[in-house]
Amino acid sequence: MRILQVSSELFPLLKTGGLADVAGALPAALGAQACDVRPLLPGFPAVVAGLHAAQTIGNFTTPWGERIEVVLGHLPGLGAAGQALKAYVLLAPGLYDRPGNPYHDAQHHPYTDNHRRFAALGWGAAHLAYGLDSAWSPQLVHCHDWHAGLAPACMALWDSPHRVPSLFTIHNLAYQGCFDAGCFPELGLPASAFSVGGLEFYGQVSFMKAGLVYANHISTVSPTYAREIQTAEQGFGLDGLLRSRAAQLSGILNGVDGSVWDPKHDALLPHPFDMRKLTGKALNKAHLQAETDLEALPDAPLFTLVGRLTEQKGLPLVLGGIEEIVGGGGQLLVLGSGDAALEHALAGQAHAYPGRVAVRLDYDEALAHRIFGGSDVTLVPSRFEPCGLTQLYGMKYGSLPLVRRVGGLADTVTDTDLETLDDSSATGFVFDAFDSTPYRSALRRAFALYRRRADWNRVRHNGMRIASSWQDSARQYRDLYASLISTP
Ligand code: ADP
Repeated sequence: MRILQVSSELFPLLKTGGLADVAGALPAALGAQACDVRPLLPGFPAVVAGLHAAQTIGNFTTPWGERIEVVLGHLPGLGAAGQALKAYVLLAPGLYDRPGNPYHDAQHHPYTDNHRRFAALGWGAAHLAYGLDSAWSPQLVHCHDWHAGLAPACMALWDSPHRVPSLFTIHNLAYQGCFDAGCFPELGLPASAFSVGGLEFYGQVSFMKAGLVYANHISTVSPTYAREIQTAEQGFGLDGLLRSRAAQLSGILNGVDGSVWDPKHDALLPHPFDMRKLTGKALNKAHLQAETDLEALPDAPLFTLVGRLTEQKGLPLVLGGIEEIVGGGGQLLVLGSGDAALEHALAGQAHAYPGRVAVRLDYDEALAHRIFGGSDVTLVPSRFEPCGLTQLYGMKYGSLPLVRRVGGLADTVTDTDLETLDDSSATGFVFDAFDSTPYRSALRRAFALYRRRADWNRVRHNGMRIASSWQDSARQYRDLYASLISTP
């Protein structure tokens, strides 16, 4: 099967969150399932720099008269079995050649021409679907998140002698790509598309809605999130539409890319380790405490959080639970950046509890690996969580996840109690309401288990054993692709 994968990020070229990890892992995982996956990416500087042997295969002109060149090159090491992966990139320096974050400027203001920048991604996908590359055409276009939302709309609404099915995957419904209605004429779509049954959303243009309305099938990154987004509480105004498409909506869990995240072969860890020999884990913890100015306390449980510092990720709970951690004799380390008020509050706590609380307000891929390698408990107390990857990385690196029972967290972590200890399914700590009382109670359960070392080791072992590779999920995507391609 020939699949065009459309996304705005792809690890290791460009990453702001979990979307990049998924886009970077899927082509190889699907390659092992006999799928020929080629990514399509905007030509951001890091993407252009990472593409080898690029050759022009065609071009197209935007409604405002800008010419966009489509090049085909390869990304070393990202294909099946570590081979090179063929990838398409859109060269449009006027749209993409900007330093830093792909979505906003240095002051965190979204670029005012984002509708143009990501409409171009949708057109690029539609042109490739309908024959721009005479040597390769996809049998299905797999679009990720709102940045690629215009692709299904163009593929459905443009005139074409043949149709190619599209799959639209939601990684986070909270980010929808909404723009002023005045930009609609620049999107190259028929006027009828700006309607309630199209991509109009409360008077604006919504790229997310375009994907949800026009794709042949919708998926999201966990079965629980697929159900949650059909409710008013988590539907962000799109729950009615999602309910109307329930028959074409499914959830497929993300996996862990073992070529990037494996404690046994992780070159970013000072002391690689595996489940049979955990001495490296203790050495990593000592190293991490030293490098982050935490006291050298080998027996203090080290709670860590790696992620965007937003309300979604449960930072208000984390801030409210610091006394519980410090009072219990534990330590807290946070790596992340985001909301200025949360950053400020966390920095204040690090100041108040030197040696016990440390905060790194940064984006640092290598430090993230060292944190999972040295951590005892990975905190993911999210308000909502489509899938979540850090709880999976935590488990694989012998750090027990402490999570809220929501979205993909509910699907991937099993709470520890006598029954789950006994049947070896326990992998972490799970609490229900988004409230400090159940969160703090989960923290106390973590302390209690930490004091029972044999049980702690058993739960840690359970998590490391599960591993969550991409294999099962890639099979589910392959089967979904096959059913969409064979449906007339
Ligand atoms: P989301 O996509 O909602 O941000 P996920 O848990 O799905 O959350 O994925 C987050 C990814 O980004 C993980 O690979 C995580 O390790 C990484 N990450 C998040 N913040 C940072 C940071 N400050 N430094 C390094 N890696 C980070």
